[in-house]
Amino acid sequence: MSAALHSIGALLFITLGSCGSGPSSAGPGERPWGENPPSHVLFLSIDTLRADHLGFYGYPRPTSPRMDEFAEEAVIFDEAQASASWTLPGLASVLTSQFTSTHNCLSFGARLSESFTTLAELLLSAGYDTACVTSHVFVTTRHGLQQGFVHFDDSFAYPAVDPEDGITSEIISDKGIRFLEQKAAAEDPDPWFLWLHYFDPHDRYMEHAGISDAFVTPGERDNDTIRRDLYDGEIRFTDMHVGRVLDALQETGFGDDTIVVLFSDHGEEFLDHGSRGHGHTLFRELVRVPLVIRAPGIAFGRIETTVRTVDILPTLLDLTGLSAMPNVAGQSLAPLMRGGDFDSEPALAEIHPSGAPAQDCLVEDRYKLILQYPQGGVRRLLFDLRTDPEEQVDIAQEHPQVCERMERELLELKKKALERGAEHVPARNLELTPGQLEVLQQLGYGGEEGQ
Ligand SMILES: [Zn+2]
Repeated sequence: MSAALHSIGALLFITLGSCGSGPSSAGPGERPWGENPPSHVLFLSIDTLRADHLGFYGYPRPTSPRMDEFAEEAVIFDEAQASASWTLPGLASVLTSQFTSTHNCLSFGARLSESFTTLAELLLSAGYDTACVTSHVFVTTRHGLQQGFVHFDDSFAYPAVDPEDGITSEIISDKGIRFLEQKAAAEDPDPWFLWLHYFDPHDRYMEHAGISDAFVTPGERDNDTIRRDLYDGEIRFTDMHVGRVLDALQETGFGDDTIVVLFSDHGEEFLDHGSRGHGHTLFRELVRVPLVIRAPGIAFGRIETTVRTVDILPTLLDLTGLSAMPNVAGQSLAPLMRGGDFDSEPALAEIHPSGAPAQDCLVEDRYKLILQYPQGGVRRLLFDLRTDPEEQVDIAQEHPQVCERMERELLELKKKALERGAEHVPARNLELTPGQLEVLQQLGYGGEEGQ
């Protein structure tokens, strides 16, 4: 951690003030949950984290010993699909349970409309205390993702252009642990929702003393090998700090009463399909993300069914016993986690990279269809995920009927998503200043490194 971060003063949350209504059914001094308070909720999201670079998804390098340990006692989703391949639309989808066509956060300057009800707003109205500590410039008040958080600290999300200032996992965990300790010190605390968003595996990849050396590929290394090695070191570094929060959860006595959700917004490309970074394609290394949920009373296990990150919100409402939210894209995964009946729904992802054609993809259990829209046309790519999980062999020509069926399904989903969006105030598009654009460029946004 850099000296600059040490100097940023006391580890206090910014309090925005209560921006949602309190529990409506309870009288003065009463609490809506009576004798049985709902579980606390801890979100641990790690930006730019490829599922296949984690031990519990089979990666041979020791990038994630603490997350592996956590996953052993949780439900691991093998095939979780994000709804975009970069941060803002991906996380807006998690918080609203809507696809990108609905919330329309498609550009760097988009701001999530206040007309959406976010997970934090739902939990706040149910009597939760809500807090978020974030270190990514898109997870900020500027882009509207603070909605529903009483405490929202995005002070580390605006990094200086000097990349030495970009290491933040330690401070994010310190602040999260402080929140847990404050809650533990309170007498009979209300249920809480804490979201910690980590950024370190994101470009630029930094070296960490005592950690990165373990991930150096032997022999001569080209720049891409060095980048990948550094990326693995960043994961290990973040894992260590995520582990400290999980330890604190146990030490503060909240472990058994807390639903913990570990996930990423999208992955990262290392020339798997010819490019680097994220945001400009929808291949598996970007949209298949880690998702692990540990919930009181639910046994650990591994689930191969395709699920979506838009399912996280309905799942949490279900697990905490709150009313389901109507008119969302996701569905609760709780029946699946409990071993009950569950109908998997196809996963939609959408992007419109700046200066490049838009793209959509649809994933169902066996096949994945990608539609690219170059000017005046549609390019279709089809992959059989059973025989070609790395999506290397396009079989669209050989299976026109599968393509046709999936394209119909994709367009139908997109149409419904657009119709839901029409019920909302459109996303506001902010004019970013040249300085803000420069910071984004330093982080790999907008240039060849992707979004
Ligand atoms: Zn991201």
